[in-house]
Amino acid sequence: MPYRLTRNVFLNAVACPRLGWFSRLDNPPHELDPEQGSLASRFLLQEFRDVHARARALFPGAVTVSRQAYEAACWQTQDLMDHPSTHTVLEAAFGSSTCRARPDAIVRLGDEWRICEVKTALNRTKELVDDLAYSWMVLEQAGVRLGGASLILLSRDYRPGMPDEALFTTVDVTQDAAARAAGFKELVAGADAVTRGTEPPEPALTMRCRTCPLFRSCAGKGIEHPIFDLPHLTPAKLQRFIAQGFRTVQDVPDAALLTPRQALAWQSVRSGKATLTGDLHGDLAAVVWPARYLDFEIVGTGIPLFPELAPFERFPFLYSVRTCDQPGRIRSHKVFLSPHNRDASQDMAERLLQDLGEDGSIVVYSGYQMRVIRWLAERVPGLASHLRGLISRIVDLESITRQDVCHPGFGGKTSLQAVLTGLVPGFSYEDLEVEEVATASAQFAYLARGGYYSQERAPLVRRDLAAYCARDTLALVRVHEALHNLAP
Ligand code: SF4
Repeated sequence: MPYRLTRNVFLNAVACPRLGWFSRLDNPPHELDPEQGSLASRFLLQEFRDVHARARALFPGAVTVSRQAYEAACWQTQDLMDHPSTHTVLEAAFGSSTCRARPDAIVRLGDEWRICEVKTALNRTKELVDDLAYSWMVLEQAGVRLGGASLILLSRDYRPGMPDEALFTTVDVTQDAAARAAGFKELVAGADAVTRGTEPPEPALTMRCRTCPLFRSCAGKGIEHPIFDLPHLTPAKLQRFIAQGFRTVQDVPDAALLTPRQALAWQSVRSGKATLTGDLHGDLAAVVWPARYLDFEIVGTGIPLFPELAPFERFPFLYSVRTCDQPGRIRSHKVFLSPHNRDASQDMAERLLQDLGEDGSIVVYSGYQMRVIRWLAERVPGLASHLRGLISRIVDLESITRQDVCHPGFGGKTSLQAVLTGLVPGFSYEDLEVEEVATASAQFAYLARGGYYSQERAPLVRRDLAAYCARDTLALVRVHEALHNLAP
């Protein structure tokens, strides 16, 4: 067990003592970092390093703490800070009796210091402020006089080719970070004690469990339909239910305790069958045949891949279109995969208009596909009116599912994966080289950046990407077919 609390352990322990306990183990459960070693996490780590390297342009004349061993890095930090000519220290190290922290930069402000944290993110969030507040707390405990706190975020105005400084925008969060740090100080002794125990604290079901990576092996162990599967469950209502001893949907004894929508989900779980909650037949009748099933793959990187893209601007690089003349009967399939060495939005827009033809509904899953078409219309102004003309043909199966169907297999969600599990059991991506969207995006990003895949490997990667997207539209066809069979 690490001697001092790290930021991750402390913040996890504040969220849930048991989660903090597992985070502090020398070998935490793999669920706490399920992406570890994946291509997507490797790409993120590489980009994180690239962003941090570029952020050095903001601190000319800064000195970097070079010692690797923690105590040595703390001493070196102190030496550098004591030197009056030191203006900025990068990767400074600090320790209190219970915690340790390594802020990205500290900048001298007279006889005080400003903490700066570089984040590969566009927006200030509560989580980012908490990260900084933790550093604030540790530096104060280490005796540093603090005069400010800044988040250094990515700027939406940056475009490739601009100097590195233009990649960043600085947000002052001094007040919030100081206030949060004051609150954290009250919690640190408890977090340290609870995560040092020889046994983990007992699980306690809270709203945090809903998104906790340990849920299935912890508070949700052996539970098929946790209480969270009820739609629109508020924290207050969850607390009431937990106080009454309800942990599963089936534990709720009476539909009168639920909203009408929750009651339908409850009924569906208790009966083990799908429940129609709207006019599924009528809504599916909106589909005009031949139907074109469309799915895009997109990529958004902190450091843009192509000219005129902003950080994290989502760039469609691949689509698949299947045409059916009745539910489940596929007549044709088209795929477009952009070349990875240039922005081929114009080519994509032209091909998309051809592949979608001029008649029939365009069946998608989620409103996101519509946003991609709007984005393409802005990117390719010469075809904008034709592209915008596609929007009126769109039928969104997710909104129909959300409106009209409760199914015990959905697990309270309406994502394509959840709905496939409920409606098309056995449908799988497991035989593909690419099984999930984060891998697909990372593969294209690596192809576009170059230097990762060999010339021989690149065509195989492109083949795998096309196969993944094709499976997505096959999933759409199957879900539509299953919905059709459910409709009276
Ligand atoms: S599932 Fe809940 S109780 Fe268990 S570690 Fe996660 S947040 Fe804590």
